Amino acid sequence: MCKHILNAQVSIRAPCCQKWYDCPECHQEVSDHNLRKTVEMVMACKKCKKVFRKDMSNYEEEDEYCPNCDNHYVIEAKTPQMGIGIEGDDPRLVKDFRKKQAQIVEEDFMSDRLG
Ligand SMILES: [Zn+2]
Ligand SMILES: [Zn+2]
Ligand SMILES: [Zn+2]
Repeated sequence: MCKHILNAQVSIRAPCCQKWYDCPECHQEVSDHNLRKTVEMVMACKKCKKVFRKDMSNYEEEDEYCPNCDNHYVIEAKTPQMGIGIEGDDPRLVKDFRKKQAQIVEEDFMSDRLG
């Protein structure tokens, strides 16, 4: 049971030792090594028990939801110092990200009007 993230919704598989943890701090406590950084995190949703992968180099708002059951896990937001990150920014990805953000805002606005 993780004491670092309140109500953790996903487990992550450490890319270094291939074991499952609720968060990087849990890994840190029981390991004698640092969590290896990776661009592709393997996660398991605790709600639907399905395993999925996330490209951390292109992490978007919609990626905070389980792709199988739409469970909102937001492990990133609660642990900004989790140590899983990307070195260097690809400007093309940033541009693409902004474009997608704009679309999401527009959709929210539309559904507000309808609802
Ligand atoms: Zn490890
Ligand atoms: Zn933890
Ligand atoms: Zn799920």
